[in-house]
Amino acid sequence: MEELKNKVRELLKAGTVQAVIGYRAGSDEKTARVAFVRQPDEADGLILDPRCTDNLAVYLLKPEVKLLGKLAIVARPTTARTILQLASENQLADGQVIVLGVSADGKAVVELASFEALEKFVGQVPAGLTEEEKVLLAKIEGMSREERWAFWQSEFARCIKCYACRAACPMCYCSRCIVESNQPQWIPVSPHDEGNLEWHLVRAMHLAGRCLNCGFCAKACPMGIPLNLLTQRLAEEAKAAFGAVAGGSATGEYALSMFKADDKEGFIR
Ligand code: SF4
Ligand code: SF4
Repeated sequence: MEELKNKVRELLKAGTVQAVIGYRAGSDEKTARVAFVRQPDEADGLILDPRCTDNLAVYLLKPEVKLLGKLAIVARPTTARTILQLASENQLADGQVIVLGVSADGKAVVELASFEALEKFVGQVPAGLTEEEKVLLAKIEGMSREERWAFWQSEFARCIKCYACRAACPMCYCSRCIVESNQPQWIPVSPHDEGNLEWHLVRAMHLAGRCLNCGFCAKACPMGIPLNLLTQRLAEEAKAAFGAVAGGSATGEYALSMFKADDKEGFIR
């Protein structure tokens, strides 16, 4: 922990960055929340322990955060992969942010100032579902088509359209989301079965092959809907169909960005 605090102080004192995005204890001390550290002595309040699971990359593209100046960010492997995916979507430039990469066991902190260094870092840590998520996904996979449809419909029926999932997702960065369009209105505003289904299908398709499975959307959902399982399932489909995996490279192609003349679907030609 001291290693991280010292690194943050050093970067701020030298003026290398103007703010560092990290974690501090929440008001109940049982949770962690984001910290925007702008003065060297504020580094004292940083924490790095099992409470710190949120994907902080979600803050990197917020206009008010960009105004803080050059940023450094504390990044567990999932956050590091998110940064690479944002780079591959031309949302971050090389050198724009200094990544303070935290090893999977949370002990070592390494300064990663380039995408090349970041790619090496994420290449060393396995990515994927937790054991609990694997069990739930296998259960959903084991259902018949009708049962699976009924499962997701019953999950979506509980949605109250608060859009906390969208706010939490680092890959939902459009300045104007389709759900806010009212001329024409593609997706009804109020929560009801059909509108909920449209919202979740649109969300899942927009994230197909781009989801890093940080689980931040499911964690943010006040109704406990396991949204990340749907986008992670689509990630598996994208990998099988296009060989595309999100978050491995700053220049990698992802399913929604590719065009191949030899695509197996004839409509594309
Ligand atoms: S798990 Fe959820 S929040 Fe994280 S990248 Fe995927 S869709 Fe976005
Ligand atoms: S966070 Fe949950 S309740 Fe809110 S819009 Fe997303 S799925 Fe619906």
